[in-house]
Amino acid sequence: MAIVMDGKLVSNSIRSKIKEEIAALLVRKPKLATILVGNDESAKVYIRNKEKACLEVGILSVQVNLPEESTNEILLQTIEHLNNDSSVDGILIQMPLPKQLSTEEIIRTISPGKDVDCLHPLNLGFLCSGHAIFTPNTPQAVLSILDFYQISLQGKKAVVIGRSNIVGKPVSLLLLDRHATVTICHSKTIDLPSVAREADILVVATGRASMVNKNFIKPGAVVCDVGINYVDGKIKGDVEYESVFPLASYITPVPGGIGSLTTTMLLNNTLKAYHLHQ
Ligand code: NAD
Repeated sequence: MAIVMDGKLVSNSIRSKIKEEIAALLVRKPKLATILVGNDESAKVYIRNKEKACLEVGILSVQVNLPEESTNEILLQTIEHLNNDSSVDGILIQMPLPKQLSTEEIIRTISPGKDVDCLHPLNLGFLCSGHAIFTPNTPQAVLSILDFYQISLQGKKAVVIGRSNIVGKPVSLLLLDRHATVTICHSKTIDLPSVAREADILVVATGRASMVNKNFIKPGAVVCDVGINYVDGKIKGDVEYESVFPLASYITPVPGGIGSLTTTMLLNNTLKAYHLHQ
C-alpha cells in the first residue's frame, strides 16, 4: 500500500518559508504582474487564486486585464511597460491567449529575468544546459514533492509519460539533472505498459483520465500523477488511483497532489526574480 504524498502539506511547508523570508525584507517587497486577455471565467479564477496566494505570503500583485480583441501590439507594449517597471519582479501571462495573438512572439518579449512561468526560450535553454534560473512550475512541483518525501533519484529509472513543452519535456530534464535515468514516452510509444513497468519513478502527464492502471506499475514504484481531467463534474488524474495505490510505494492523489503545489512554485520563482533584481 502506498504512502500518499500530500501536496497541500508540502505546499504549506514551502509557503511558510517563503512568507518568513519575505517578512524579513525591509526595503521593498516582491511584486508579481499578471496579464489576463479576455473574460474567460476559469482563467479569472486561476488569476484570483494566484493573487490570493501572493497576498498570503506577502508578495504584492498587480493585474492587467485586456479585452479579448486586443492586438499583438497592445500586448507587446504592456509587457515592455512591465519589463521596464523596476517595482515588478515577475510577469505571468494567463494562457492560452486568444487566436489573433502570436503567443511565441509575446513570450519572447517577456524579460527573461521576469519570466516566472519559465516560458522564454532563453530560460528553457538554461534549463536544458543544467543552469536554470527559473524552473517551470508544474515540473518543479513534481521535484519538490519527491524531495519533501526524501525520495532519492540518483541512479533510479524514471519514466515520464507525456512529452509536452510545459510538463513532460521539462520534468524529464529536471529528473535527468538529478541523475535519474530517464525514458520519455508519448502517444506513439510501443507497448507503453511494459516500458512504464521498468520505472522506479513514474511521472504521468497525458491528459487522459485514469489511463495508467496497475498494468503499468512495477511493485514499489513511486507514482506522480500530473493529470487534471474533469469527468462527470469531478477532477480525475491520469492514473487509475484505486488499482495503482496497492502496488505503489508512494503516490500523489488528484486532487491534492501536484496541482496543490504549482502556484507555490510560482511564488518561489517570484521571490527568486526579486533576488535577481536586488
Ligand atoms: P498535452 O496534451 O500538451 O500533452 C500530453 C502528452 O501526453 C503528449 O506528449 C502526448 O504524446 C502524451 N499522450 C497523450 N495520450 C497518450 C497515450 N494514450 N499514451 C501515451 N502518451 C500519451 O498535455 P500537458 O499540457 O502536458 O498536460 C498533461 C496533463 O497534465 C493534463 O491532464 C493537464 O491538465 C495536466 N496539467 C496539470 C498541471 C498542474 O498544475 N497539476 C499543469 C499543467 C498540466
